[in-house]
Amino acid sequence: HFANSSHGPDWTLWRDTSVGEECPFCQIVNNQSDTEILLSDAELVCFRDLKPGAAHHYLIISRTHIDNCKSLKAEHIPLVEHMVEMGKNILEKNKISDDIRMGFHIPPFSSVPHLHLHALAPASKMNMKSQLRYGPQSHWFITVSATLSLQLQMFPEAESSH
Ligand SMILES: [Zn+2]
Ligand SMILES: [Zn+2]
Repeated sequence: HFANSSHGPDWTLWRDTSVGEECPFCQIVNNQSDTEILLSDAELVCFRDLKPGAAHHYLIISRTHIDNCKSLKAEHIPLVEHMVEMGKNILEKNKISDDIRMGFHIPPFSSVPHLHLHALAPASKMNMKSQLRYGPQSHWFITVSATLSLQLQMFPEAESSH
């Protein structure tokens, strides 16, 4: 609940409308779709995956348009951690605390070109097709910890600079 955070940043200024008009996830962020928003805050929005790969399958997206996990920089690490937090929150709301899988798709295999974290459960009960799509052995699904260590490898200076 952030309705009274009048001293916070004006997130509307961050939106790139030229991108937003094309992007289905920006349309969800901007309330231009019928998608039911399950959780939201100043940075993130959470909703159900249209084609669930497990009994529980949620997507967490940033309000600002980020293309994909390859566009992430070290400065995005708090945002990614925040996405994970919201993923855990929505699963907890559904009384799930283990057998969770979370991760990002690596381009060109992401279906929507707007960064989205998949949160799935129960991971061990996914069918073969979902295991391939969202499994740790899949070379085009990257777990959050792998994403973060990848960003730190690519931008090692970011930890100490500025
Ligand atoms: Zn977008
Ligand atoms: Zn995806």
